Amino acid sequence: MGKVLIIGAGGVGTVVAHKMAALPEVFTDIMLASRTKSKCDAIARKIGGNRIKTAQVDADNVPQLVELIRTFKPDLVVNVALPYQDLTIMDACLETETSYLDTANYEPKNEAKFEYKWQWAYQNRFKEAGITAILGCGFDPGVTSVFTAYAAKHHFDEIHYLDIVDCNAGEHGKAFATNFNPEINIREVTQRGKYWEDGQWKETAPHEIHKPLNYPNIGPKESYLIYHEELESLVKNFPTLKRARFWMTFGQEYLTHLRVIQNIGMAGIEPIMYEGREIVPIQFLKAVLPNPGDLGENYKGETSIGCRIRGKKDGKEKTYYIYNNCSHEVAYQETGTQAVSYTTGVPAMIGAMMYLQGLWKKPGVFNVEEFNPDPFMEALNQYGLPWHELHNVDLEMD
Ligand code: NDP
Repeated sequence: MGKVLIIGAGGVGTVVAHKMAALPEVFTDIMLASRTKSKCDAIARKIGGNRIKTAQVDADNVPQLVELIRTFKPDLVVNVALPYQDLTIMDACLETETSYLDTANYEPKNEAKFEYKWQWAYQNRFKEAGITAILGCGFDPGVTSVFTAYAAKHHFDEIHYLDIVDCNAGEHGKAFATNFNPEINIREVTQRGKYWEDGQWKETAPHEIHKPLNYPNIGPKESYLIYHEELESLVKNFPTLKRARFWMTFGQEYLTHLRVIQNIGMAGIEPIMYEGREIVPIQFLKAVLPNPGDLGENYKGETSIGCRIRGKKDGKEKTYYIYNNCSHEVAYQETGTQAVSYTTGVPAMIGAMMYLQGLWKKPGVFNVEEFNPDPFMEALNQYGLPWHELHNVDLEMD
């Protein structure tokens, strides 16, 4: 049915490649390209069957990307490199009139700030070129955004209160590790908290608001209000929302390490001089921390991510909780990666499938909640991320 170019051979790229390779009727030709070609080759070898072609590319370099796209001629580029590369890859897609999908919004390297404004600014150019950009098609953003769209479409007349809850109850046996790229992860969780209420953004100190929440099959876990990128597009696309928040669980041990890392300056993003050369502390830290892609082997337990929603249906107040639980061990058996890479890579594959099947295909730049959620929801059940619904339960939210 179609040709895809995957950019980025990390944990998420590994899952995307595995899942696409297993669907030859949808993904007829697949190329995996990344900064380090040997990593692409290792993934391709593991998948076998000559399903995956590989290439080297520096995704910060638009001419290199353009050349690769012109040579391979994909129908869609799936960006699972880092958020820093979103704009260069979108530029190359524009130049070659190729559609685009990613899982994380653009972040400038020298400023720990993620916002959709840079990517939304491509709206007219993508529209005029007749190509599609699907933004934020991982789990959160991604599945959580589609869960919200599905709830609004099928279970509510109006949604008023949205709480996205993200629990990782897994144990990887390391004193400290991040579940996806450490640089991106630490930048995300150490910034100030922010949520939407009564038509405006409200800020908190980092991790200031927290409480125990009960997760299905897991139990109570301390959950911290943090800012997360899907809130920005969801409040825009669902204007009936009076409040939208995001909660993530962290263990005490993780938070203690994080505090020390920050206090000693290792989370810094400004270059410093070390032995005559410039280094960026957080990039050096990444080099000494465990590689998230290697955590899978000993990872036990599961993740539970979902949306807790309150609103009105047929004039009556109702509550609704939709979630997926994903086992680290099961994810590892299937793809050799832990559940955080798995829960991101599977939706990216499904989004690409939606595009190639013509179900999520329209000129312009869109967040995933702007498409029909139904075929995507069906595919989640089919391809490894089954979801569950609870109606009129206590959402534990005031
Ligand atoms: P990794 O760090 O494991 O992988 C990133 C890959 O991108 C690496 O292979 C890296 O190459 C490659 N890369 C980095 N810079 C360049 C470049 N300039 N040119 C070409 N390739 C490059 O990250 P993850 O797989 O954990 O995460 C991938 C993406 O998924 C990130 O954007 C992350 O934010 C996002 N994500 C989204 C989630 C969601 O739910 N929406 C959840 C988790 C992650 P090299 O190997 O040479 O370093």
